[in-house]
Amino acid sequence: MKLRQQTSLLFIVALAANIFLTLNSDAQQLVSADMNSFLEARLASLKTATKPESNSSVKFEQICPVATNAMAKRVFDEYGAVFVVKEPSKFPDRCVFNDTADVERFQRSIKIKSAVIGGVVIELQEAAMDSLIEVEKDADALNLKITPLDGTIAGKRSYNDTVRIWNTRFQRALDHWVQVGKITEDDATVVRKMDTLHQVEQVIAWESDGLYFSTDFSHSIFSSTAPPGTSQHLSMLAIDIVENNDPTVVTLLAGRGWYRTVLNDATHFTFIGVPESELPNRGLKPVMRGGCKFWVPNNAPIMDPASSGTSGPGE
Ligand SMILES: [Zn+2]
Repeated sequence: MKLRQQTSLLFIVALAANIFLTLNSDAQQLVSADMNSFLEARLASLKTATKPESNSSVKFEQICPVATNAMAKRVFDEYGAVFVVKEPSKFPDRCVFNDTADVERFQRSIKIKSAVIGGVVIELQEAAMDSLIEVEKDADALNLKITPLDGTIAGKRSYNDTVRIWNTRFQRALDHWVQVGKITEDDATVVRKMDTLHQVEQVIAWESDGLYFSTDFSHSIFSSTAPPGTSQHLSMLAIDIVENNDPTVVTLLAGRGWYRTVLNDATHFTFIGVPESELPNRGLKPVMRGGCKFWVPNNAPIMDPASSGTSGPGE
């Protein structure tokens, strides 16, 4: 047993070194550690590559109006890591998708690959899927499993999936706060009739007063489920994993470019596709919560100091 553990450890170290070299060999040379400058530089190079004749540069503010829209800012602070994914994977072209048609438009523009992972059909962007298949092989060599959480929605989601999951969390927490007398039935009735964007704004306001909407009502709903149209699963660069509390599984995922990026959502991994040592160069900073390391945008304030796990299909 001891020998087996040592062999496994050696295997992981060798694997990590090998993967690091593979990823690092074609990593871009990056000098900026500021997330905004990294994204502006990325958009500028994208413009040069696709429309060299155009003089007007796309500003990040145009695809995610963080300076003028409170919801966009919050969504970016919580889920913005996805914007620094390594090319040729595509980052979302807006931080809030409007509706089903908008999500389907983006999903048609990306190269999708489907595979059976842990007995579940999963769809992801091609590079993310290729990487996840390698993670599963790495795990298999160690007699470990990689199992998607709650079936196929662990990978790709539709706009309607995000509406359904949001409503489950939102309605449940609203009922709870009405029951304990913190929100009046009249206010709850008004908010239930609002469109989702206004519901999200109201939830943000309630949470700033300490009425949290996560599954256990102890921290933000953003760590429990993404508001409709904002999930990284819509961009097909995220996977929720059952075995997320096994440190070896987390190491294997990181070795292939998958990291936790949504604070307090320990089940959720985002494909960035670069070695961990390069994440700060892409404008991400590490934050520890509940013994887990999360890589979040380095210009984001830390909204939710509470730390605990989540259950069910998370962000
Ligand atoms: Zn997730």
